[in-house]
Amino acid sequence: MSENKEEVVSEALKAEEKLRSMWYILDLEGNLVPVDEFDYTGYDNLQTFSGYEVEKDRTVDQVPPHVTLMKSLELVDYEPASDPGNFRYYPKGRMIKALLEQYVTQEVLDYGGMDVETPIMYNMKHPTLEKYLHRFPARQYTIEHDDDRYFLRFAACFGQFLMAHDATISYRDLPLRIYELTRYSFRREQRGELVGLRRLRSFTMPDVHAMCRDLPQAKKEFRRRLKLVVDTLTGIGFEKDEFELGLRMTEDFYRKNKRFVQSIVRGHGKPALVEMWKERFFYFILKYELNFIDALGKASALATDQIDVENGERYDITFMDEEGHENHPLILHCSPSGAIERDIYALLEKAHMGMAKDVRPSLPLWLAPTQVRLIPVNEDHVALAEGYAKKLTRAKVRADFDDRTETVQKKIRDAEKEWIPYIVVLGDREVGAETVPVRVREDGKLHQMSLSELSSLIKKQVRGKPYRPLPMPMGVQGRPKFVG
Ligand SMILES: [Zn+2]
Repeated sequence: MSENKEEVVSEALKAEEKLRSMWYILDLEGNLVPVDEFDYTGYDNLQTFSGYEVEKDRTVDQVPPHVTLMKSLELVDYEPASDPGNFRYYPKGRMIKALLEQYVTQEVLDYGGMDVETPIMYNMKHPTLEKYLHRFPARQYTIEHDDDRYFLRFAACFGQFLMAHDATISYRDLPLRIYELTRYSFRREQRGELVGLRRLRSFTMPDVHAMCRDLPQAKKEFRRRLKLVVDTLTGIGFEKDEFELGLRMTEDFYRKNKRFVQSIVRGHGKPALVEMWKERFFYFILKYELNFIDALGKASALATDQIDVENGERYDITFMDEEGHENHPLILHCSPSGAIERDIYALLEKAHMGMAKDVRPSLPLWLAPTQVRLIPVNEDHVALAEGYAKKLTRAKVRADFDDRTETVQKKIRDAEKEWIPYIVVLGDREVGAETVPVRVREDGKLHQMSLSELSSLIKKQVRGKPYRPLPMPMGVQGRPKFVG
């Protein structure tokens, strides 16, 4: 093997393996307790999470439930013709993913992020990037072209930093908030660590940076973004207490900013795992993530934010202060939702875990590919079903109708297998009637209501969320089967 072909392993990745961490639980009273001395009564997920983090074992030995679900619901699938960890999205999965992308972007724009777009590949010989590659613990895909070697980006950071480097920035412009949703970021995770939508090699990552003039401004902005993070995750359909907070920092930062760190934990509402280092090893002094614990007890970071003290200087990003002096900003890196694929993974795992508690699995209504399924009892009622589906569609509700020649029971069963939240069976009684019987998935009951009541009910529940039309033809008959 020629030297040129060797995998580039970042120095940070090599050193990370040797890194010595101190692990604690920080409780709501501000006590910092070593992980093995903490009383986990009532904090099962925190115990799972700290066990998982301290071990740092990323190998996967079982197929996680979301992998079965992503296929049976015809959302996402493996693509054997690609490198493992790169997926295909069927129409329903693509719609869900697009809605999530749109929603997170909308939240970031509301917060003040400026949306930009940057290249997906960079020259490995670029002087700044060459150094940066060794500070980031990730493996790259590389592309060779003529005598040049490029890497596929593993984050949105450097595109934005290179842009900021060339910009003229005044202290008045700070905090400067730049945003990009990368489709995709690439990381060549080790083969044995790849697992469904949880750990992939290409992923969609919203990343909003905030350049701040000093630590007080960075801390203030950090708090603001915590709200952005919680709003985004709960907006998607998670509960705040479904997440475990992981905080990582240098001992020095903790000592000087105890009250700030404690306030983050109090805001989270339950004890958090803390990883601490004697010296600053990474480019950040503080980082947190909100972690989701799945059905197999594995933890995955969704949202994250960090205070970066290195890259302002490394990329030579400067702002002019009141006295006309040039300074380097501190940079916050935040993903309010984490990788979009991971959101889908977590939603599916959550649905699966609910089944053990007798909750019918479902997706948040705003993400349900079909929100209302109209089922005609026989072919005489197909036109009525189609008319109703069109009427709902005009009101921006995703409705379809089952025009297959199957029994009503079979059609209802199939709609339930698709987790459709509202099912309406249409027979003779419904012809010319004011109301229709609506089978509601959430409570498993029949509710009599008019079509406009149904559409207002749905509109109320999806308020503030983006909308996309039905991702498949309106008649079920005209749909291909993508899986199985
Ligand atoms: Zn970043």
